[in-house]
Amino acid sequence: MKVVVFLGAPGSGKGTIANALVADDATLHHVSSGDLLREAAKLQTVDGRKAEKYMQQGTLVPDTLIAHMIADYMLNLPGTHTILLDGFPRTVGQVGMLDEIVQLCKTELVAAVVLEVPDNVIVTRIAGRRGCSQCSASYHVTNIPPKVAGVCDKCGAPLVIRKDDEPETVKSRLAAFYTQTMPVVDLYEQRGLLYRVDGSGKIPGIVKRTRQAWA
Ligand code: AMP
Repeated sequence: MKVVVFLGAPGSGKGTIANALVADDATLHHVSSGDLLREAAKLQTVDGRKAEKYMQQGTLVPDTLIAHMIADYMLNLPGTHTILLDGFPRTVGQVGMLDEIVQLCKTELVAAVVLEVPDNVIVTRIAGRRGCSQCSASYHVTNIPPKVAGVCDKCGAPLVIRKDDEPETVKSRLAAFYTQTMPVVDLYEQRGLLYRVDGSGKIPGIVKRTRQAWA
């Protein structure tokens, strides 16, 4: 097992690019901290209930809460996959926690990839983003439209705007990225693990550039 950390501002397209990478490569396993938290909130687990209020405000959940969830997930993952870790670590404190998890899982952190996208592109992307109300499929009204407007291609459930994609919440999430996650990017750069990928333009090009980053 190897770990690749996948970083980027909300709306930078991490989820879309990660899904495309995984679809093409059976050895790659995508783990999204946001998806784990949303699932826990939906199931109303103890951690899910704790996380909910932070997520609705667009602020980060406590480091220990998300680190335990990621550790649990990774320790129970069988096989020799490369894990594409999307959305974790997001604070300098979480970087140390991931180092411990990596040791515990007897694995290795081989790269940290950051998808770089200008703020104006991010705002447009988030405004058109839609998610399935039942499964975790995601769409964009113009960039990745569903076959039938407002309906999930995979399960037929209605598409919704995520609560934390409302404009005010997006502002907080972007602020959290610049103040708390940018130092993570700097730290991985100092460790010589960082790959910067241009996240603007067409999806196939971004996927290709991302794949090359740690190949
Ligand atoms: P995302 O889908 O990755 O944008 O995550 C949605 C929300 O989940 C974020 O706005 C945070 O509230 C929370 N979250 C996800 N990952 C983390 C993390 N590594 N640390 C703290 N909070 C997180």
